[in-house]
Amino acid sequence: MSDPGVVIVGGSLGGLRAAEQLRSAGHTGPLRVIGEEVHLPYNRPPLSKDVLADPGDDDVDRLHATLAFRRRASVADVEFLLGSAAVGAELGARTVRLDDGATLSYDGLVVATGLRARRLDLPGPAAGRHVIRTLDDALGLRAAIASRPSVVVIGSGFVGCETAASLHTLGLAVTVVDPAEVPFARALGPRLGGAVRRHLERAGVTFAMGVGVAGYAGTEAVTGVILADGRVLDAGLVVEAVGSRCNTEWLDGNGLDLGDGVLTDNNLAVAGTERVVAVGDVARFPNPLVDDVPRRVEHWSMPTDTAKRAAATLVAQLTDEPAPDTPFTPIPSFWSDLLDLRLQAFGSPALADEAILEEGDVDRLADGALITYRRSGLLIGTVAVNLPPARQRQLRERFLERVS
Ligand SMILES: Cc1cc2nc3c(=O)[nH]c(=O)nc-3n(C[C@H](O)[C@H](O)[C@H](O)COP(=O)(O)OP(=O)(O)OC[C@H]3O[C@@H](n4cnc5c(N)ncnc54)[C@H](O)[C@@H]3O)c2cc1C
Repeated sequence: MSDPGVVIVGGSLGGLRAAEQLRSAGHTGPLRVIGEEVHLPYNRPPLSKDVLADPGDDDVDRLHATLAFRRRASVADVEFLLGSAAVGAELGARTVRLDDGATLSYDGLVVATGLRARRLDLPGPAAGRHVIRTLDDALGLRAAIASRPSVVVIGSGFVGCETAASLHTLGLAVTVVDPAEVPFARALGPRLGGAVRRHLERAGVTFAMGVGVAGYAGTEAVTGVILADGRVLDAGLVVEAVGSRCNTEWLDGNGLDLGDGVLTDNNLAVAGTERVVAVGDVARFPNPLVDDVPRRVEHWSMPTDTAKRAAATLVAQLTDEPAPDTPFTPIPSFWSDLLDLRLQAFGSPALADEAILEEGDVDRLADGALITYRRSGLLIGTVAVNLPPARQRQLRERFLERVS
């Protein structure tokens, strides 16, 4: 085939890395990236960390410039159609429909549409309720904290606790609410989750755990959060950090398994299609490093890892070459910054049935700690807290050795 054109839907980290990796894998034809956001790809992790903790100036372009990924020479000719959403696709005809009515044809398609923040469907005013997924969300939140409201963060996962910690460093009164008893219980296990909670509490963040939210108080704007047990927490601002939804509706009607993201095989080829691959947060793929169960992995490292394999798969399909035949076994890894704690995880701690404290004291996390996670006795993950980078590299190697 001569000069095949690839359309990438989703203009964030996954879309950018897919474009770069398609060039590396030998695709020299046209590449178009369709991005719903108006911004060129930028880094999301700082949104709940430095961008909130250090408000600075509110010029969107200057802020974007500090977060934007460097555009490599290999993708200088890639066309970005920004502020443009895919609203439908007919995979049999190899076309994608955009929100302005245009139809794009493709020879190969990359699904990189990631996630959007889930919102709570609760009674009460809309004003004062925020989420944090995009640069525009973060700017909206920054503008809203100028009046120094008391803040309730609903959700005690990483984004919720990072947001709470960042707003706390600005001197705001912050309460984290969650029906779960312990923050990060699923991701880190109750022992470390409980220790992180105590660390944040000692710094002054308040937690209301084990209770749900029934609604919002206020008429024009939120003035409080009504808990399921009848208590009302003062809140001039609420951040709903209650997980996410996969952006896959535009693929409806094609017979795909969109039960949780887009189901792919181990090569990131979308199941039941030709010349369609998925990357990043939206891709649900089996990782033999862990087991054979397809899962999505919402970590920053995954768009890069999956884009490399997906590009090799797509280029092979476009050129009628065999698909890669070595197992694709990326190591899940994530980090989180919470006040003076840096957590660094390898593997899949969330799948463990046992957590062992190997180093340190969970009640002195800032001094360093190491927890290993096992499933049926086998090492499945590690979490290091405040250990130096060299030690973290060792842990990654050790993890690889044990699972290989
Ligand atoms: C606040 C925050 C903090 C985080 N912190 C960490 C961290 O500390 N450590 C870590 O490991 N990970 C972290 N992450 C996760 C990490 O940022 C994600 O794993 C990564 O952004 C996933 O990239 P992606 O390109 O797959 O998806 P996304 O970043 O979700 O990008 C998808 C893009 O597709 C666009 N899109 C969606 N639908 C359409 C459509 N129909 N048409 C066109 N475009 C569309 C969206 O607008 C978006 O720009 C954090 C995420 C957030 C939100």
